[in-house]
Amino acid sequence: MSQPLQLRPSSGFAERSRAATDDAQLRKSFRGAMDFLQAKRQSQFPDARELEALRDLGTAIRRYSLARLPDLLEQLEGKLIANGVQVHWAETAQEANAIALGIARRHAAKLMVKGKSMVSEEIGLNHAMAAAGIEALESDMGEYIVQLAGEAPSHIIMPAIHKTRQEIGALFAAKLPGVAYTENVDELIRIGRKVLRQKFSEADIGLSGVNFAVAETGTLCLVENEGNGRLCTTVPRVHIAVTGIEKVVEKLEHVPPLYSLLTRSATGQAVTTYLNLISAPRQAHEKDGPEELHLILIDNGRSQAYADEQLRATLQCIRCGACMNHCPVYARIGGHAYGTTYPGPIGAIVSPHMLGVGATYALATASTLCGACAEVCPVRIPIPDILVRLREEAQARTDSGSTLRGAGEARSRLVSAAFVVWAAVYRHPRVYRIVSWLMSRGHALMPSYQGAWTGIRTPLIPARRRLRDLIKDKRA
Ligand code: SF4
Repeated sequence: MSQPLQLRPSSGFAERSRAATDDAQLRKSFRGAMDFLQAKRQSQFPDARELEALRDLGTAIRRYSLARLPDLLEQLEGKLIANGVQVHWAETAQEANAIALGIARRHAAKLMVKGKSMVSEEIGLNHAMAAAGIEALESDMGEYIVQLAGEAPSHIIMPAIHKTRQEIGALFAAKLPGVAYTENVDELIRIGRKVLRQKFSEADIGLSGVNFAVAETGTLCLVENEGNGRLCTTVPRVHIAVTGIEKVVEKLEHVPPLYSLLTRSATGQAVTTYLNLISAPRQAHEKDGPEELHLILIDNGRSQAYADEQLRATLQCIRCGACMNHCPVYARIGGHAYGTTYPGPIGAIVSPHMLGVGATYALATASTLCGACAEVCPVRIPIPDILVRLREEAQARTDSGSTLRGAGEARSRLVSAAFVVWAAVYRHPRVYRIVSWLMSRGHALMPSYQGAWTGIRTPLIPARRRLRDLIKDKRA
Protein backbone atom coordinates (compact mmCIF):
# COMPACT_ATOMS: atom_id res chain seq x y z
CA MET A 1 0.00 0.00 0.00
CA SER A 2 1.22 3.52 -0.77
CA GLN A 3 2.62 5.54 2.10
CA PRO A 4 0.15 7.93 3.78
CA LEU A 5 0.62 11.68 3.37
CA GLN A 6 3.48 13.10 5.37
CA LEU A 7 2.28 15.75 7.77
CA ARG A 8 5.39 17.89 7.35
CA PRO A 9 6.69 17.44 3.79
CA SER A 10 9.12 20.33 4.44
CA SER A 11 11.16 18.21 6.79
CA GLY A 12 13.51 16.05 4.78
CA PHE A 13 12.66 17.75 1.48
CA ALA A 14 16.29 18.78 0.85
CA GLU A 15 17.54 15.25 1.61
CA ARG A 16 14.93 13.63 -0.65
CA SER A 17 15.76 16.08 -3.45
CA ARG A 18 19.48 15.37 -3.11
CA ALA A 19 18.86 11.62 -3.17
CA ALA A 20 16.70 12.04 -6.28
CA THR A 21 19.29 14.10 -8.16
CA ASP A 22 21.93 11.50 -7.24
CA ASP A 23 19.77 8.76 -8.80
CA ALA A 24 20.90 8.72 -12.44
CA GLN A 25 18.19 6.27 -13.54
CA LEU A 26 15.42 8.32 -11.96
CA ARG A 27 16.70 11.51 -13.60
CA LYS A 28 16.91 9.77 -16.95
CA SER A 29 13.34 8.44 -16.62
CA PHE A 30 11.92 11.84 -15.71
CA ARG A 31 13.93 13.76 -18.27
CA GLY A 32 12.80 11.41 -21.05
CA ALA A 33 9.17 11.44 -19.90
CA MET A 34 9.04 15.23 -19.53
CA ASP A 35 10.62 15.80 -22.96
CA PHE A 36 8.06 13.40 -24.46
CA LEU A 37 5.09 15.10 -22.77
CA GLN A 38 6.30 18.57 -23.65
CA ALA A 39 6.65 17.60 -27.31
CA LYS A 40 3.17 16.01 -27.34
CA ARG A 41 1.59 19.11 -25.83
CA GLN A 42 3.43 21.31 -28.29
CA SER A 43 2.13 19.25 -31.22
CA GLN A 44 -1.46 19.76 -30.03
CA PHE A 45 -1.18 23.54 -30.10
CA PRO A 46 0.32 24.39 -33.50
CA ASP A 47 -1.59 27.68 -33.69
CA ALA A 48 -0.47 30.07 -30.94
CA ARG A 49 -3.46 32.37 -31.47
CA GLU A 50 -5.93 29.51 -31.09
CA LEU A 51 -4.13 28.38 -27.95
CA GLU A 52 -4.25 31.83 -26.36
CA ALA A 53 -7.92 32.28 -27.27
CA LEU A 54 -8.75 28.88 -25.74
CA ARG A 55 -6.74 29.72 -22.61
CA ASP A 56 -8.66 33.00 -22.30
CA LEU A 57 -11.94 31.13 -22.56
CA GLY A 58 -10.91 28.39 -20.10
CA THR A 59 -9.63 30.96 -17.60
CA ALA A 60 -12.83 32.99 -17.87
CA ILE A 61 -14.96 29.88 -17.28
CA ARG A 62 -12.95 28.85 -14.22
CA ARG A 63 -13.00 32.38 -12.76
CA TYR A 64 -16.72 32.75 -13.42
CA SER A 65 -17.41 29.35 -11.81
CA LEU A 66 -15.38 30.26 -8.72
CA ALA A 67 -17.03 33.66 -8.43
CA ARG A 68 -20.39 31.87 -8.20
CA LEU A 69 -19.11 28.81 -6.31
CA PRO A 70 -21.48 28.83 -3.29
CA ASP A 71 -24.55 29.20 -5.53
CA LEU A 72 -23.33 26.64 -8.04
CA LEU A 73 -22.64 24.06 -5.33
CA GLU A 74 -26.19 24.46 -4.04
CA GLN A 75 -27.59 24.20 -7.56
CA LEU A 76 -25.49 21.09 -8.19
CA GLU A 77 -26.66 19.47 -4.98
CA GLY A 78 -30.33 20.21 -5.73
CA LYS A 79 -30.08 18.84 -9.25
CA LEU A 80 -28.23 15.69 -8.19
CA ILE A 81 -30.72 14.95 -5.41
CA ALA A 82 -33.56 15.40 -7.91
CA ASN A 83 -31.75 12.91 -10.17
CA GLY A 84 -31.58 10.34 -7.35
CA VAL A 85 -27.95 10.93 -6.33
CA GLN A 86 -27.06 11.06 -2.62
CA VAL A 87 -24.88 14.10 -1.89
CA HIS A 88 -22.54 14.37 1.10
CA TRP A 89 -20.38 17.27 2.31
CA ALA A 90 -17.06 16.74 4.04
CA GLU A 91 -15.05 19.51 5.65
CA THR A 92 -11.95 17.40 6.28
CA ALA A 93 -10.23 14.33 4.87
CA GLN A 94 -11.30 12.36 7.97
CA GLU A 95 -14.94 13.30 7.44
CA ALA A 96 -14.78 12.28 3.78
CA ASN A 97 -13.30 8.89 4.69
CA ALA A 98 -15.89 8.37 7.43
CA ILE A 99 -18.68 9.00 4.89
CA ALA A 100 -17.19 6.56 2.36
CA LEU A 101 -16.66 4.02 5.11
CA GLY A 102 -20.24 4.41 6.33
CA ILE A 103 -21.55 3.66 2.82
CA ALA A 104 -19.21 0.68 2.49
CA ARG A 105 -20.27 -0.73 5.86
CA ARG A 106 -23.97 -0.36 5.04
CA HIS A 107 -23.36 -2.61 2.06
CA ALA A 108 -21.08 -5.00 4.00
CA ALA A 109 -18.45 -4.27 1.35
CA LYS A 110 -15.23 -6.25 1.19
CA LEU A 111 -13.80 -4.97 -2.10
CA MET A 112 -13.78 -1.49 -3.63
CA VAL A 113 -12.40 -0.91 -7.15
CA LYS A 114 -11.12 2.58 -7.80
CA GLY A 115 -10.79 4.65 -10.93
CA LYS A 116 -8.07 7.28 -10.96
CA SER A 117 -8.75 9.88 -8.28
CA MET A 118 -6.11 12.24 -6.87
CA VAL A 119 -8.66 13.46 -4.32
CA SER A 120 -8.89 9.93 -2.89
CA GLU A 121 -5.07 9.97 -2.61
CA GLU A 122 -5.26 13.38 -0.95
CA ILE A 123 -7.60 12.13 1.79
CA GLY A 124 -5.77 8.79 2.25
CA LEU A 125 -8.90 6.80 1.43
CA ASN A 126 -7.09 3.51 0.77
CA HIS A 127 -5.61 3.55 4.27
CA ALA A 128 -8.96 4.33 5.87
CA MET A 129 -10.54 1.41 3.99
CA ALA A 130 -7.67 -0.96 4.81
CA ALA A 131 -7.95 -0.06 8.52
CA ALA A 132 -11.60 -1.15 8.34
CA GLY A 133 -10.75 -4.43 6.58
CA ILE A 134 -11.91 -3.31 3.12
CA GLU A 135 -9.63 -3.75 0.14
CA ALA A 136 -9.44 -0.64 -2.05
CA LEU A 137 -7.91 -1.71 -5.34
CA GLU A 138 -6.61 0.78 -7.90
CA SER A 139 -7.72 -0.06 -11.43
CA ASP A 140 -5.94 2.65 -13.42
CA MET A 141 -2.83 0.86 -14.73
CA GLY A 142 -0.35 3.42 -13.39
CA GLU A 143 -2.09 3.58 -10.02
CA TYR A 144 -2.24 -0.24 -9.92
CA ILE A 145 1.53 -0.43 -10.48
CA VAL A 146 2.40 2.04 -7.70
CA GLN A 147 -0.09 0.39 -5.35
CA LEU A 148 1.51 -3.00 -6.02
CA ALA A 149 4.93 -1.44 -5.33
CA GLY A 150 3.70 0.15 -2.06
CA GLU A 151 4.46 3.63 -3.38
CA ALA A 152 2.58 6.87 -3.88
CA PRO A 153 2.00 8.32 -7.38
CA SER A 154 4.89 10.47 -8.60
CA HIS A 155 2.81 12.44 -11.14
CA ILE A 156 -0.85 13.47 -11.03
CA ILE A 157 -1.61 12.19 -14.54
CA MET A 158 0.97 9.39 -14.89
CA PRO A 159 1.42 7.92 -11.43
CA ALA A 160 4.11 5.36 -12.39
CA ILE A 161 6.11 7.60 -14.70
CA HIS A 162 9.23 7.06 -12.56
CA LYS A 163 9.27 3.32 -13.23
CA THR A 164 11.03 1.58 -16.12
CA ARG A 165 9.40 -1.36 -17.92
CA GLN A 166 12.11 -3.59 -16.45
CA GLU A 167 11.13 -2.51 -12.92
CA ILE A 168 7.45 -3.12 -13.69
CA GLY A 169 8.27 -6.55 -15.14
CA ALA A 170 10.20 -7.49 -12.00
CA LEU A 171 7.37 -6.12 -9.80
CA PHE A 172 4.68 -8.17 -11.56
CA ALA A 173 6.83 -11.33 -11.41
CA ALA A 174 7.43 -10.83 -7.68
CA LYS A 175 3.89 -9.83 -6.65
CA LEU A 176 1.51 -11.66 -9.01
CA PRO A 177 1.33 -15.44 -8.56
CA GLY A 178 2.22 -17.43 -11.68
CA VAL A 179 3.46 -14.42 -13.65
CA ALA A 180 6.87 -14.75 -15.32
CA TYR A 181 9.20 -11.80 -15.85
CA THR A 182 8.66 -9.87 -19.06
CA GLU A 183 9.58 -6.35 -20.12
CA ASN A 184 7.29 -6.36 -23.11
CA VAL A 185 4.96 -3.40 -22.50
CA ASP A 186 1.92 -4.91 -24.29
CA GLU A 187 2.34 -8.12 -22.34
CA LEU A 188 2.61 -6.21 -19.03
CA ILE A 189 -0.60 -4.32 -19.78
CA ARG A 190 -2.35 -7.58 -20.72
CA ILE A 191 -1.28 -9.15 -17.39
CA GLY A 192 -2.52 -6.17 -15.35
CA ARG A 193 -5.78 -6.03 -17.29
CA LYS A 194 -6.48 -9.73 -16.71
CA VAL A 195 -6.08 -9.37 -12.94
CA LEU A 196 -8.27 -6.27 -12.82
CA ARG A 197 -11.08 -7.58 -15.08
CA GLN A 198 -11.87 -10.27 -12.55
CA LYS A 199 -11.95 -7.74 -9.71
CA PHE A 200 -14.54 -5.49 -11.38
CA SER A 201 -17.11 -8.24 -11.28
CA GLU A 202 -16.29 -9.12 -7.65
CA ALA A 203 -16.33 -5.53 -6.31
CA ASP A 204 -19.09 -4.29 -4.03
CA ILE A 205 -18.29 -0.63 -4.60
CA GLY A 206 -16.77 1.41 -7.42
CA LEU A 207 -15.09 4.69 -6.59
CA SER A 208 -14.14 7.45 -9.01
CA GLY A 209 -13.00 11.04 -9.08
CA VAL A 210 -14.73 13.84 -10.99
CA ASN A 211 -13.12 16.17 -13.53
CA PHE A 212 -16.02 18.60 -13.86
CA ALA A 213 -19.40 18.73 -12.08
CA VAL A 214 -22.11 20.57 -14.03
CA ALA A 215 -24.54 22.47 -11.80
CA GLU A 216 -27.41 23.07 -14.26
CA THR A 217 -27.79 19.39 -15.18
CA GLY A 218 -26.29 17.62 -12.16
CA THR A 219 -23.74 15.83 -14.38
CA LEU A 220 -20.44 14.37 -13.22
CA CYS A 221 -17.82 14.33 -16.01
CA LEU A 222 -15.05 11.78 -15.88
CA VAL A 223 -12.13 11.92 -18.32
CA GLU A 224 -10.10 8.74 -18.87
CA ASN A 225 -8.28 6.60 -21.41
CA GLU A 226 -8.38 3.01 -20.20
CA GLY A 227 -12.08 2.32 -19.70
CA ASN A 228 -11.47 1.34 -16.09
CA GLY A 229 -13.32 4.46 -14.95
CA ARG A 230 -16.39 3.36 -16.89
CA LEU A 231 -16.19 -0.12 -15.39
CA CYS A 232 -15.80 1.28 -11.84
CA THR A 233 -18.84 3.48 -12.29
CA THR A 234 -21.15 0.95 -13.92
CA VAL A 235 -20.36 -2.63 -12.82
CA PRO A 236 -20.47 -2.53 -8.97
CA ARG A 237 -23.88 -2.03 -7.33
CA VAL A 238 -22.73 1.16 -5.60
CA HIS A 239 -20.74 4.06 -7.08
CA ILE A 240 -19.09 6.68 -4.88
CA ALA A 241 -17.69 9.77 -6.62
CA VAL A 242 -15.32 12.00 -4.66
CA THR A 243 -14.34 15.53 -5.63
CA GLY A 244 -13.04 18.82 -4.32
CA ILE A 245 -15.67 21.56 -4.08
CA GLU A 246 -13.90 23.65 -6.73
CA LYS A 247 -14.66 21.33 -9.66
CA VAL A 248 -18.13 22.72 -10.34
CA VAL A 249 -19.03 24.64 -13.51
CA GLU A 250 -22.41 26.16 -14.29
CA LYS A 251 -23.33 24.84 -17.73
CA LEU A 252 -22.68 21.78 -19.84
CA GLU A 253 -21.39 24.09 -22.57
CA HIS A 254 -18.58 25.12 -20.19
CA VAL A 255 -17.13 21.60 -20.28
CA PRO A 256 -15.84 21.28 -23.91
CA PRO A 257 -13.29 24.15 -23.73
CA LEU A 258 -11.97 22.90 -20.38
CA TYR A 259 -11.93 19.31 -21.64
CA SER A 260 -9.97 20.37 -24.73
CA LEU A 261 -7.44 22.29 -22.62
CA LEU A 262 -7.14 19.39 -20.19
CA THR A 263 -6.49 16.57 -22.65
CA ARG A 264 -4.18 18.59 -24.90
CA SER A 265 -2.18 20.04 -21.99
CA ALA A 266 -1.99 16.79 -20.03
CA THR A 267 -1.14 14.04 -22.48
CA GLY A 268 -1.09 15.83 -25.81
CA GLN A 269 -4.32 14.18 -26.95
CA ALA A 270 -7.01 15.96 -28.93
CA VAL A 271 -9.57 13.82 -27.08
CA THR A 272 -9.35 10.99 -24.59
CA THR A 273 -10.67 7.51 -25.29
CA TYR A 274 -13.57 7.99 -22.87
CA LEU A 275 -15.51 10.96 -21.55
CA ASN A 276 -18.11 9.65 -19.10
CA LEU A 277 -21.12 11.83 -18.24
CA ILE A 278 -22.93 10.52 -15.16
CA SER A 279 -26.15 12.12 -13.93
CA ALA A 280 -28.08 9.45 -12.06
CA PRO A 281 -28.01 5.90 -10.73
CA ARG A 282 -29.46 3.12 -12.88
CA GLN A 283 -33.05 3.78 -13.96
CA ALA A 284 -35.77 1.10 -14.09
CA HIS A 285 -35.55 0.75 -17.89
CA GLU A 286 -31.72 0.60 -17.98
CA LYS A 287 -29.65 -2.56 -18.21
CA ASP A 288 -26.53 -1.41 -16.41
CA GLY A 289 -25.25 1.17 -13.97
CA PRO A 290 -25.09 1.32 -10.18
CA GLU A 291 -28.21 0.99 -8.05
CA GLU A 292 -26.86 3.65 -5.72
CA LEU A 293 -24.83 6.73 -6.59
CA HIS A 294 -23.13 8.99 -4.04
CA LEU A 295 -21.16 12.19 -4.43
CA ILE A 296 -18.83 13.35 -1.64
CA LEU A 297 -17.96 17.06 -1.94
CA ILE A 298 -14.72 17.73 -0.07
CA ASP A 299 -13.34 20.99 1.28
CA ASN A 300 -10.07 19.96 2.99
CA GLY A 301 -8.58 23.45 3.01
CA ARG A 302 -10.10 24.72 -0.25
CA SER A 303 -12.33 27.25 1.50
CA GLN A 304 -9.18 28.79 3.04
CA ALA A 305 -7.80 29.38 -0.45
CA TYR A 306 -11.22 30.59 -1.62
CA ALA A 307 -11.39 33.25 1.07
CA ASP A 308 -8.17 34.91 -0.14
CA GLU A 309 -8.47 37.00 -3.30
CA GLN A 310 -5.01 36.08 -4.63
CA LEU A 311 -4.90 32.44 -3.50
CA ARG A 312 -8.36 31.70 -4.88
CA ALA A 313 -6.67 31.35 -8.27
CA THR A 314 -5.22 28.00 -7.12
CA LEU A 315 -8.78 26.62 -7.32
CA GLN A 316 -8.90 27.32 -11.07
CA CYS A 317 -6.66 24.27 -11.56
CA ILE A 318 -7.99 21.51 -13.84
CA ARG A 319 -5.21 19.07 -12.79
CA CYS A 320 -3.61 18.71 -16.21
CA GLY A 321 -0.04 18.39 -14.88
CA ALA A 322 1.47 20.64 -17.59
CA CYS A 323 3.14 22.84 -14.96
CA MET A 324 4.92 19.76 -13.61
CA ASN A 325 5.99 18.59 -17.06
CA HIS A 326 7.62 21.95 -17.78
CA CYS A 327 9.13 22.62 -14.35
CA PRO A 328 12.96 22.32 -14.34
CA VAL A 329 12.90 21.39 -10.65
CA TYR A 330 10.22 18.68 -10.93
CA ALA A 331 11.95 17.23 -14.01
CA ARG A 332 15.10 16.69 -11.94
CA ILE A 333 13.80 15.54 -8.57
CA GLY A 334 10.59 13.76 -9.61
CA GLY A 335 7.35 13.62 -7.64
CA HIS A 336 8.27 11.63 -4.53
CA ALA A 337 10.82 14.17 -3.29
CA TYR A 338 8.01 16.65 -2.59
CA GLY A 339 6.40 14.32 -0.03
CA THR A 340 2.89 15.51 -0.90
CA THR A 341 0.03 14.03 -2.93
CA TYR A 342 0.29 16.86 -5.45
CA PRO A 343 3.95 17.45 -6.41
CA GLY A 344 5.55 20.09 -8.61
CA PRO A 345 4.35 23.70 -8.97
CA ILE A 346 0.68 22.85 -8.50
CA GLY A 347 1.53 20.86 -5.36
CA ALA A 348 3.50 23.77 -3.94
CA ILE A 349 0.49 26.09 -4.20
CA VAL A 350 -2.35 23.75 -3.16
CA SER A 351 -0.64 21.70 -0.42
CA PRO A 352 -0.34 24.63 2.06
CA HIS A 353 -4.14 24.76 2.26
CA MET A 354 -4.36 21.05 3.01
CA LEU A 355 -1.35 20.64 5.31
CA GLY A 356 -0.55 24.17 6.49
CA VAL A 357 1.98 26.77 5.35
CA GLY A 358 4.52 25.80 8.00
CA ALA A 359 4.50 22.14 7.03
CA THR A 360 4.97 22.87 3.33
CA TYR A 361 7.11 26.02 3.13
CA ALA A 362 10.06 24.17 1.56
CA LEU A 363 7.93 23.36 -1.51
CA ALA A 364 7.39 27.04 -2.30
CA THR A 365 11.17 27.52 -2.27
CA ALA A 366 11.68 24.64 -4.73
CA SER A 367 11.33 26.97 -7.67
CA THR A 368 13.61 29.22 -9.68
CA LEU A 369 10.57 31.43 -10.45
CA CYS A 370 11.44 30.96 -14.12
CA GLY A 371 7.75 31.19 -14.97
CA ALA A 372 7.56 28.09 -17.20
CA CYS A 373 4.62 26.77 -15.15
CA ALA A 374 2.54 29.92 -15.61
CA GLU A 375 3.43 30.04 -19.29
CA VAL A 376 1.89 26.62 -19.97
CA CYS A 377 -0.93 26.63 -17.42
CA PRO A 378 -4.10 26.35 -19.55
CA VAL A 379 -6.14 28.38 -17.07
CA ARG A 380 -3.50 31.03 -16.46
CA ILE A 381 -2.84 30.49 -12.75
CA PRO A 382 -0.08 32.96 -11.76
CA ILE A 383 1.94 30.25 -10.01
CA PRO A 384 5.20 32.21 -9.47
CA ASP A 385 3.30 35.11 -7.82
CA ILE A 386 1.56 32.64 -5.51
CA LEU A 387 4.88 30.96 -4.66
CA VAL A 388 6.34 34.33 -3.64
CA ARG A 389 3.26 35.03 -1.51
CA LEU A 390 3.57 31.62 0.21
CA ARG A 391 7.25 32.28 0.93
CA GLU A 392 6.20 35.54 2.59
CA GLU A 393 3.44 33.79 4.53
CA ALA A 394 5.91 31.20 5.83
CA GLN A 395 8.06 34.04 7.22
CA ALA A 396 5.13 36.20 8.38
CA ARG A 397 5.13 37.74 11.84
CA THR A 398 2.64 36.22 14.24
CA ASP A 399 0.86 39.59 14.49
CA SER A 400 0.63 39.93 10.68
CA GLY A 401 -3.09 39.05 10.71
CA SER A 402 -2.61 36.25 8.18
CA THR A 403 -5.58 33.91 7.95
CA LEU A 404 -3.56 31.04 6.48
CA ARG A 405 -3.08 27.99 8.67
CA GLY A 406 0.58 27.67 9.68
CA ALA A 407 1.58 31.17 8.52
CA GLY A 408 4.79 32.30 10.20
CA GLU A 409 5.67 28.81 11.42
CA ALA A 410 8.85 28.77 9.33
CA ARG A 411 9.89 32.26 10.44
CA SER A 412 13.65 32.50 10.77
CA ARG A 413 15.37 35.40 12.55
CA LEU A 414 18.34 35.08 10.24
CA VAL A 415 16.19 35.34 7.10
CA SER A 416 14.20 38.24 8.54
CA ALA A 417 17.39 40.10 9.51
CA ALA A 418 18.88 39.48 6.05
CA PHE A 419 15.82 41.02 4.41
CA VAL A 420 15.86 44.04 6.74
CA VAL A 421 19.49 44.67 5.77
CA TRP A 422 18.79 44.04 2.08
CA ALA A 423 15.83 46.44 2.11
CA ALA A 424 17.98 49.11 3.75
CA VAL A 425 20.69 48.64 1.12
CA TYR A 426 18.13 48.83 -1.69
CA ARG A 427 16.74 52.11 -0.40
CA HIS A 428 20.09 53.89 -0.76
CA PRO A 429 21.60 53.77 -4.29
CA ARG A 430 25.08 54.77 -3.17
CA VAL A 431 25.18 52.10 -0.45
CA TYR A 432 23.79 49.59 -2.97
CA ARG A 433 26.59 50.37 -5.43
CA ILE A 434 29.26 50.00 -2.73
CA VAL A 435 27.81 46.70 -1.46
CA SER A 436 27.49 45.36 -5.04
CA TRP A 437 31.12 46.30 -5.73
CA LEU A 438 32.28 44.60 -2.52
CA MET A 439 30.26 41.47 -3.25
CA SER A 440 31.57 41.22 -6.79
CA ARG A 441 35.13 41.36 -5.38
CA GLY A 442 34.34 38.70 -2.79
CA HIS A 443 32.69 36.17 -5.09
CA ALA A 444 35.57 33.72 -4.59
CA LEU A 445 34.41 33.36 -0.98
CA MET A 446 30.87 32.41 -2.01
CA PRO A 447 29.79 28.74 -2.31
CA SER A 448 29.92 27.51 -5.89
CA TYR A 449 26.38 26.70 -7.03
CA GLN A 450 27.57 26.59 -10.59
CA GLY A 451 29.39 23.34 -9.88
CA ALA A 452 26.25 21.75 -8.47
CA TRP A 453 24.17 22.96 -11.41
CA THR A 454 26.49 21.77 -14.14
CA GLY A 455 27.02 18.57 -12.19
CA ILE A 456 23.46 17.50 -12.90
CA ARG A 457 23.53 18.66 -16.51
CA THR A 458 25.68 15.71 -17.50
CA PRO A 459 24.84 15.76 -21.22
CA LEU A 460 26.61 19.13 -21.53
CA ILE A 461 29.92 17.91 -20.12
CA PRO A 462 30.86 15.56 -22.99
CA ALA A 463 29.72 18.24 -25.44
CA ARG A 464 31.97 20.80 -23.78
CA ARG A 465 34.90 18.37 -23.84
CA ARG A 466 34.28 17.61 -27.49
CA LEU A 467 34.26 21.31 -28.29
CA ARG A 468 37.49 21.87 -26.34
CA ASP A 469 39.17 18.99 -28.18
CA LEU A 470 37.94 20.36 -31.48
CA ILE A 471 39.42 23.80 -30.74
CA LYS A 472 42.71 22.18 -29.71
CA ASP A 473 42.75 20.19 -32.98
CA LYS A 474 42.13 23.33 -35.01
CA ARG A 475 44.96 25.14 -33.22
CA ALA A 476 47.28 22.25 -33.89
S1 SF4 B 1 -1.75 24.64 -12.17
FE1 SF4 B 1 -2.32 24.87 -14.34
S2 SF4 B 1 -0.76 23.65 -15.43
FE2 SF4 B 1 -0.67 23.01 -13.25
S3 SF4 B 1 -2.01 21.23 -13.11
FE3 SF4 B 1 -3.26 23.04 -12.61
S4 SF4 B 1 -4.20 23.66 -14.57
FE4 SF4 B 1 -2.52 22.28 -15.07
